[in-house]
Amino acid sequence: MKTAINNIKIFDGTRIAWECGSVLFDESGILAVGEGPFEAEQIIDGRGRTLTPGLIDGHVHLGTLGAMSPNSSESELVQSGALIAAQAQQVWSCGITTMCNCTTGANADIHVRDLIRGGLIPGARIVACGCGICITGGHCWTAGHQCDSELEALRAAREQLRLGADFVKLFATGGMGTRNSIPNVAQLTEGQMSAAAEAAAAVGAFSRAHATGLEGAKRAVRAGVRIIDHIQMDEELAAMMAEAEAFYCPTIVTRYNILHTEDPRYQYMRAKADSGDLDRKKRALELCRKHGIRIIAGTDAGPNDMTPLGSSLWTELNLYAEFGLSPVEALTAATSGAALALRIEAVTGSVAPGLCADLAVFDGDPTVDLHALNTLAMTFQSGIMRWRRM
Ligand SMILES: [Zn+2]
Repeated sequence: MKTAINNIKIFDGTRIAWECGSVLFDESGILAVGEGPFEAEQIIDGRGRTLTPGLIDGHVHLGTLGAMSPNSSESELVQSGALIAAQAQQVWSCGITTMCNCTTGANADIHVRDLIRGGLIPGARIVACGCGICITGGHCWTAGHQCDSELEALRAAREQLRLGADFVKLFATGGMGTRNSIPNVAQLTEGQMSAAAEAAAAVGAFSRAHATGLEGAKRAVRAGVRIIDHIQMDEELAAMMAEAEAFYCPTIVTRYNILHTEDPRYQYMRAKADSGDLDRKKRALELCRKHGIRIIAGTDAGPNDMTPLGSSLWTELNLYAEFGLSPVEALTAATSGAALALRIEAVTGSVAPGLCADLAVFDGDPTVDLHALNTLAMTFQSGIMRWRRM
C-alpha cells in the first residue's frame, strides 16, 4: 500500500533535508522524497512533526542467557529464538528498525534473522554474528568459541561464517558481565584476531571487537577489525583508529547503569567500574571528533534488565548530547552512521529513494532536543506501520 507522509520536517540520516517536505513509500521501498504533498492510499499529515530513518541500535544482545554455547540444547535454542522474535517487535515502540546483535548463544539470532529476512515473521532487521570468539575461560566464554591458537580462531570464524554470520565478534579483552573476568586485560592475540578478521573479509563479512582495555583494542585495530566497542580510548588508539578507518561504538548507557545500580545482582559489575569511566567515555567522543573517527550508536542492551532493549538507545543518544555531540550528530550515529558501519547503508539508515521505508515519526523534534525521542508517534518497517502511539 502506498503511504505519503506530507508536510513534515525530514532528517534524512545526515542532515535536515527538508524543513517541510514529504515522503512517498510502500513495501518495496521509499519511492520519492520531496516538497510534495504526494497522493497515496494512506496519507499522514506531518505538520509540526519530524521524520527520521528508523533508529539502529548498533550493539545489543538478544535472546536468553540460558542458550549460551554453540552446542546448546534444542530447547535452549527454541527459547532463545522465541524471545528474539518477540524482542524484534518490541523495539518498534522505541522507533528501532535495525539491531546489530553482538553475541547470542546457540546462534539463535542468525536463525531468527533469516525468518524475518524471509518474510516469515515480522520484526526489526537483525545483523547477526551468533556465537562470539574468545579465549578459553575468557570474557563471554559461555556464549563463545573458546580458542587458544590462531588456527582455532580461524576455524571458529569460518564456522560462524558458514552458518551465515554477517560479522565475526571477537573478545579482545576481559569484561564486566563475566564473573571473575578482569575487564582491561588483553585476551585474544593480534594473530588470532587477524586470522578471524581475514576469514570474514574473504567472504565479504566484517569483524568487530569487544575491548575495554587499551592493549586489546590496539591489537584489534592492528588486526584490521572494523568496529571497536566500548573502549575508553587514548590519543594513540584514536590516531590508530583514524588511520585504519575503524568505527567506534561507545555503549555509554551500560557503563552509566553499572555505575549507578543499587541492584544486588549487579554489584559484582559495579565493583569493576571506576567513577572516572564516564569522563573517559566523554574524552573518547572528543577524540572521535578530533580524529574524525565515525561513531555507530550502540547500547549493549539485552543481557540483563539493568539496560533494557529499546529505551536504552534513547538514553544512549541523550548521553552523547550531554558529552558534546549535537542532536543531529547523535541521530546520525543511530541511523546512516550505524548503517555504514554495518555495511547496510544501501538498505536502510537514510531517507532516500530506493532504500527500505524504515521510518520513525515524532510529534516533537529530536533534531533540536533528543528528549523529544519520547514523543515517538509511529514506526514503519519496510513501509508497513508496525507501531503507533495510542
Ligand atoms: Zn556486548
